[in-house]
Formats: sequence, C-alpha cells, structure tokens
Amino acid sequence: MINVLSCITLEHDLRLVLLAAFICIAGAATFEQLLKRAIHAEGKARIGWLGIGSVALCTTVWCTHFIAMLAFHAQVPVVLDPVLTLLSLVLPVAGFFFGIAAVIYGRNIASNILGNLLIGGCIAGLHYLGMMAYRVDGIVEWKSEYVIASIVLACGLSVASGLFYKKFYDTKYAVYSVGLFALAVVSLHFTGMEAMVITPLSLSSTPMDTATFTALSIATALAGALVIAIGAICFFLDADQRQEGYNQLLKMAMTDTLTGLPNRNAYMEDLDARIEEVKARGKQLAVIGVDLDRFKDINDSYGHRAGDLALITIAKAMSRNLKVTETVARLGGDEFAATKVFESRTVLNAYLKKLEWALQTPVEHEGSNLKLGGSIGVAIYPDDGENSDTLRNNADLAMYRAKINPASKVCFYEASMDEEVRQKRELAAALARALDNDELELHYQLQASVDSGKISGMEALLRWTHPKLGPISPGVFIPIAEESGLIIRLGEWVLRRACEEAVTWENGDKIAVNMSALQLTQVELPSIIHRILLETGLPPKRLEVELTETAILEDRDRSLHVLRQIKALGVRVALDDFGTGYSSLEILRSFPFDKIKLDRFFMSEIESSAESTALVRSVLSLGKSLQIPILAEGVENENQLSILKAEGCDEIQGFYLGRPETLKDVLEKAGAGSLRIQSIKPEDHKDGEDQNSSSDAA
Ligand code: C2E
Ligand code: MG
Ligand code: MG
Repeated sequence: MINVLSCITLEHDLRLVLLAAFICIAGAATFEQLLKRAIHAEGKARIGWLGIGSVALCTTVWCTHFIAMLAFHAQVPVVLDPVLTLLSLVLPVAGFFFGIAAVIYGRNIASNILGNLLIGGCIAGLHYLGMMAYRVDGIVEWKSEYVIASIVLACGLSVASGLFYKKFYDTKYAVYSVGLFALAVVSLHFTGMEAMVITPLSLSSTPMDTATFTALSIATALAGALVIAIGAICFFLDADQRQEGYNQLLKMAMTDTLTGLPNRNAYMEDLDARIEEVKARGKQLAVIGVDLDRFKDINDSYGHRAGDLALITIAKAMSRNLKVTETVARLGGDEFAATKVFESRTVLNAYLKKLEWALQTPVEHEGSNLKLGGSIGVAIYPDDGENSDTLRNNADLAMYRAKINPASKVCFYEASMDEEVRQKRELAAALARALDNDELELHYQLQASVDSGKISGMEALLRWTHPKLGPISPGVFIPIAEESGLIIRLGEWVLRRACEEAVTWENGDKIAVNMSALQLTQVELPSIIHRILLETGLPPKRLEVELTETAILEDRDRSLHVLRQIKALGVRVALDDFGTGYSSLEILRSFPFDKIKLDRFFMSEIESSAESTALVRSVLSLGKSLQIPILAEGVENENQLSILKAEGCDEIQGFYLGRPETLKDVLEKAGAGSLRIQSIKPEDHKDGEDQNSSSDAA
C-alpha cells in the first residue's frame, strides 16, 4: 500500500493524476445514470442504453488509464504502440457490454456478482493491454504479487460497487457505488504500475518528451470528457422527455377531457390544499356542490352531442374570470364542484350569484337556446366541517335540498340535514327488516270502465306499518327504498305477492303493479317477471306494469328496450302519473303503451279550473288519436266522473270507486267474491274517518 502511494506521489505527474481521477469519477457517475436508465428500459431501448453505457464505461476506464500512464515518469524513453493502444480502447467494450448485460438481465445477486467480475476483469485487461503498448527503452519485469493484487482489487471493488446498484434511488448508495467503482479503476492502475519494474537500456532514438505526454494527456482527457458528456446528454435529454411525458400524463389524469376543468382527483387535492391554506391564514372556505337540473332531459331529448355542448358551455361560464381564491371542477356526469376562499359573506354571496348566472347560460343547439339551470349546495369551513370529506358530504346534502326545493336554487348546509339522513337510514333498515320478516302487505284499489261501469282491474299498492311509527305512506318509504337500493328486492316481493293473490280471483281481471325507475334499470327485469308468472301461474295478459315517465327517462334507450321485452311476454305496460313529469309526446310515440294513467292532480282541479278541463280534454283526444285508452286517477266524486264521461275518458280509479283496501275487503265490497258490478256506484264516503285518507296517499 505504502509502495503504491509512494509510486503515485513520487513517480507520477500529480496534476495529470488528478485529471485522471476527475475523468474517472465523472465517467463512473455518468455510467451509473446510464445503467439506471438501462435497468428501467425495455426491449430495444434497453439494448441502446446498454450500448451507450458500455462505450461510456470503456472510455472512462481507458482515459483514466491512459492519462495516468502518461503521468508516469518512466525515467527512460517511451514510445506507444498505436495498434495495441487502439485495441485497448476498442476490445474491452464488448466485455463491458456483456458484464452490464448480466447485471441488467439477470436481476439476481449471482448474475450481479458475475457481471461485475467480468467488468473488473475488463478493467484489468484494458490496463495490461495498454501497458503492452507502452514500450520503454529497457527491460520490463512484473512483480506477480502486485499484478494479482491489482486484478483482485479491480474485481473485488467492482463487485462491491455493483452491490449498491439496487439502491440507486438513494443518493447515499449511488455515491458509494460510484466511489467504489472509481476506486476499482484507480487502485488497479496504480497497483499495476507498482508491479512494473523497468531496467533502462536507452536504445530508442526518438523518445516522447514530457510536453508531448502532457499534450497527449489533455487531448485524451478532452476526448474522454466528450464521450462521457455525450452519454450524460443522452441521459438528461431522455430524462427531460420522460419528465415532459410524465407531466402530460399527470395533467391528463387531473383534467376532465370534455370540459378541460380539473377533475375529481384534482379537485380533492386542491380542496385539501385550500383547507390548509385557510387554516393558516384564518380565513373561511366555501365548498360548493353543483348539479345541473335539466341535463338528463337535454341529453335524452336532443342527443349526447347536445349534452356535451351543454356541459362545455356551462363549464366555460362557471370558470370565466376565475380568481386565485376560486376553483371550479367537473366531478363527473352533470356534477360540478367549486371552492371559494372568502372573508365576508358579501363576497361569497356575490360569487354564488355568479355561479347561478353561469348555470343559466343558454346553450345554443341547432338554432334553439336550451336552458339547464342547476342546484347549488354550500358547506363552509370551519363551521360545517374540518376536513374535505365532511365538507364535500355536507355540500352535497345542501345541494340535494336545493334540488328538491324549487324556490331556492342555493342552499347552505344546516346540521338538521344530518338528522334527516340518519332518520332515512334508520327507516331503510327497518323497512329491510319488515321485508325479511314478511311484515309488509298489499292493498288493492279498484279500476272500472267508464262506459260499462264494469270493474276492469285493480292496482296493488304496498303498505307498511312501522312497529313504532305506525303506517308509513309509500310516498315516504318508496323513495327511501330507491335510495338504499332495497327497491329491487321490494319490487320483486310486490310482484310475486300480487301475482300469487290475483291468480286466486275467480274472474280474469287485470292486476296492476307499480315498478320503480331503479327496477327498470335491471336488464334481467323481463326474465324476473317471466319467472314469477311461470311460478305463480298468472296468465301474462292479466298483469299490467305501471311506470312513470321519469322512470323511463332516467335511461330512455335502456328502459324502452326492457319495456319491449316485457311487452313481448304478453304483459301490459301502463304509463303512470301522466301529466306531472315531462309529458313528452316523444315518449308516447316511441313506445306502444297499453294505457295512460292521467295523474290525480287533474281531478282536484277539473271542477274549478277550465284550464284543467281543457288539459284533460287534450290528453283524452291524444289518447284517442294514438289509440291508447286513458284511465283517470283520483276520481273522488260523481261530478268528476260525469265530466270525464262527457270528455270520453275510458277508465277511472279513485276513492269514488273505493280506497285501497286489503284483498278480502275489496273483494267483499265488489260483491261476494265477484269483481263484476253492473254500473259504477258511489261508495259511501266517510271523509276523515278512513285510514287511507288523501294524506296517506300523498
Ligand atoms: P300511484 O301509483 O299513482 O298510486 C295511486 C295513489 O293514489 C295511491 O297512493 C292511492 O292511495 C292514491 N289514490 C287513489 N285514489 C285516490 C283518490 O281518489 N284521491 C286521492 N287523493 N288519492 C287517491 P299510495 O298508495 O299512497 O301510493 C302512492 C304512490 O306510491 C303510488 O302512486 C306509487 O307510485 C307508489 N307505490 C305504491 N305502491 C308501490 C309499489 O308496490 N311499488 C312501487 N314502485 N311504488 C309503489
Ligand atoms: Mg300506480
Ligand atoms: Mg298514479
């Protein structure tokens, strides 16, 4: 060791030794980067990086060796054999290539050691081949113990350096790896130089002088630096391009492609950052949920392109002149969200007004201006929640409140909304228990033909008596069942029970069963109906399913597809509550309904309002022209019946005929087990006494 150190200090030009060391470290560091890149590349790219890495490595080792060799004061004239010098530069490239390949492709400790042993061997080979090109005027002898030590050092330190490859991403380990590799090259060189003993003979006539040695060293260093720099440039260019690609991917992952607004991920990230910001600065933050009102309607009536256009237009309007304190994002579908950092309510209210206007922006589509409108829910940090999830949830609760309240399109979160949600959850759980314990029952309401007065069928209406709260209106529990998804099981139960009971009637009257929007989303609904009909033995033509327009328009195409399959079974399909929803002629034209049920809202108005009578008249004439019979719901008195009769209504249903009652009661009322009556006779009305009052139906 001391001999090697004194060899460096006494027998070498130290400036050139430092230059060699610099080239060695810079080259090793570049090689480590290229190796890292090759490890993570695949296919041809990996071979490319492997090639660049081998050339960079060989150049590094060769330049280090060559400069250090030129730094050596041989004390005798020296000449260099050009062929061997060149071979020492070119030949080891192949060895390095296979050594690195073993490390990269093997990916296990054995191949790593083997590959690095080969690299160490190549470093040694390059050195001794270079030394063969170093012709001195004298006799050269080799001290074998130094030669062996130099080879062991080169191989051992290369292997040690290789053991840190796996931990490259930790800068500390990368430094160890580079340091050990540089040490492998340098220690080999100087131990190898110490191994050489020269006995001068002074035979040469044209030895190389010191100035030539220095110039050659600098030229070699420059050439080496150039190759290493090219390797480094390749790496940085690639890294830059990959960063750009990564940034682009990141942008895509964070942006809604249709509107260009931030998407849900980006919004949630921004929200968390905003909460931290207002927390630190003592300000307030409004978390705003926005839902478009007529989006589905526009999508269904005018097509998806109109829907997309509407989303783009509204998104543009909402994000116009956005300040740094504001964010607008699209979370999906017609759901948007916004945030606003504010200090005074006046500022927040002005922003909410701006959003409201934005939602009113007309959407120009094929010459017509479509207006959507929207509902806005607001939750405020820190009053309504301290974290993003609670705030989002509360903003949504407020937004749903705004949605069902046409009077206010902006709703602020209130603690009572949580209570409402809790109550709904409890009711849903109680309803599920009632279904499991068979505590639900069906009531039936008569339907009759206006002309003949004969009973034409009955509608099955679900009844639930809560153990503590008493009877609960379907108007309350059906939406809860829909929200919780229980309606699927509930609907199947109703259908089965109604069919089982209807099959026991002696006459062949129809049984009408209500279907919810959620049931209609089931593609297997037709096969469920088919199975129940087979199992209960009810002829399909006796079953009539009732659906509202809203249910069909939820997903128009799918609904109509399912309805067509149901109709193909021979089951009748009725359009319930007509006149309350969109009442689009389009829906009547696109499906051959077997019946239209005019909503009972018209009956409450028909006696007092000429407008309602005119509306009923137009619906009846529409039914006539489409050849679809019309049934008027909610007929409560004779006066209403005579108006309907005069206008040509086909069927009626309502308290005038009878309230919904148990099967036993309704059959008794209809006359000793037979449902046929000769003329419509008013039932004895006991308003206010009956349990199934109008409020029950509400
Ligand atoms: P709907 O299908 O329109 O049922 C008619 C509703 O009007 C019934 O209310 C009935 O009691 C009420 N009604 C009938 N005649 C009169 C009348 O002369 N005057 C007044 N004021 N009301 C009358 P109910 O039973 O409370 O049902 C309300 C709604 O709940 C139903 O409206 C239906 O949409 C839904 N529903 C009931 N049972 C089921 C069911 O099994 N499945 C589904 N999906 N929905 C059901
Ligand atoms: Mg109905
Ligand atoms: Mg109805």
